Amino acid sequence: MKVMKFGGSSIAGVDGMNRTAEIIRSALGEKLVIVISASGKTTRHLLKCYDDLLNKKSNNAFSRLNNIEEEHIMLISNLIYDICIFYNVSTRVNQLIKDIRSDFEKIIEDGDSRLLKAKILSYGELLSSEILSAYLSYLNIGNKLVDARNVIITNENHLNAAPDLEAIRSKAESIIKPVVDSGAIAIAQGFIGSDKNGNTTLLGFEGSDYTASILANALDANEIYIWTDVDGVLTADPKFIDDTVIVENLSYDEASELAFSGAKVLHPLTMQPASIKNIPIFIRNSKNISCKGTCINRKGDIESYAIKSITFKDSVDLHEIKNFNLYNGNGKNNLELYNGNGNGSSSIHSNGGSEKVSSDNHFIQYSLITLVGKYIQKDPKIRKDLIAYKKKYNAKIIYPDSLNRINILIDKSICCEVLTRLHEEFIKKVISISRNKKSDYKRVFAG
Ligand code: ASP
Repeated sequence: MKVMKFGGSSIAGVDGMNRTAEIIRSALGEKLVIVISASGKTTRHLLKCYDDLLNKKSNNAFSRLNNIEEEHIMLISNLIYDICIFYNVSTRVNQLIKDIRSDFEKIIEDGDSRLLKAKILSYGELLSSEILSAYLSYLNIGNKLVDARNVIITNENHLNAAPDLEAIRSKAESIIKPVVDSGAIAIAQGFIGSDKNGNTTLLGFEGSDYTASILANALDANEIYIWTDVDGVLTADPKFIDDTVIVENLSYDEASELAFSGAKVLHPLTMQPASIKNIPIFIRNSKNISCKGTCINRKGDIESYAIKSITFKDSVDLHEIKNFNLYNGNGKNNLELYNGNGNGSSSIHSNGGSEKVSSDNHFIQYSLITLVGKYIQKDPKIRKDLIAYKKKYNAKIIYPDSLNRINILIDKSICCEVLTRLHEEFIKKVISISRNKKSDYKRVFAG
């Protein structure tokens, strides 16, 4: 069985839906579960509606909703030319839009509510999944729409809920398995679930990747495909660095480190359910299907000692730098870093770093660069080479508990320069040496 997740950009518009249908068609013959995100930026637009309603700008919220409605109805009109299927799907989409309107009214009356917020944000997936299911039916591709809220059972942390894997396994077996066993494709919404009282919950932004991995675990799938709009995990962010290359193979640990450290390619928790069952995750570009992308599996676990990818958090404010408790009494350095938007924090537990972060300036803006690769901390050469960065850029090199990651804290203004040099020295150079010895290149980057 394959679980395939299609992200918002992959399914956006007529072209996106066509590409998605083609990919699904080419996988027919296997048991398939499709997990789908909201189309394009629908979730962000719904979030803006919610904020508008709280800020007493309900006219804005309703006019944004009109745009969402128009976009979805237009999409249906441009995709489906069978009157009966068109009528059925537009009726359901119209009903969902009506439901959103009535939830808007409740927000106007009740004000801020986590339950209503989760409900509002869930509509993007409910809309897109209706349309994909109808479009596949129109193309004679047998499928059944499954309401993920009946399967993805979570705790009551409504906006960032944790899945209950046991409950999900039994629901998946009774609701999804019969669909795929009958030869149809099961289509489920990503991102959304429900608590035990039936209230809608969300798995956190970009949570559809996580849904795919949870369902793959629950259904003992063989493979997970994350169809997105980039060629895979790259050695660095191409917006900032030239000559990045695709990392063909990553371990689950490496992929998690990257996702938690700011790489946007996957929801950070995606690797957990997949790794429990050793299910490979393929990251593929739906707009460039000839590209093999990145495979995340246990094979990537070899001790390559190679830095596979570099990521960074652009703005990390060290509010109380003087008071940071760098030695927490457990023999570990503990440096708490808050990201610049104040939304969330990341904590670095350092094992054996002897760095002292000392400055009188409370509000210097720092960037936090993360180097990721299996056991890179154990490589004496990498450690030695990084000393030059301490000297030249006044960088703080942090060796966290995880041996697969090294953090570098630097002044934000020189982040790009340092990133470029690190990529040049630790990745491009290694690749060009390895290219001359082909087998090594494979060992390092293809696992
Ligand atoms: N639609 C949700 C979001 O935009 C979930 C997802 O796309 O994965 O975050």
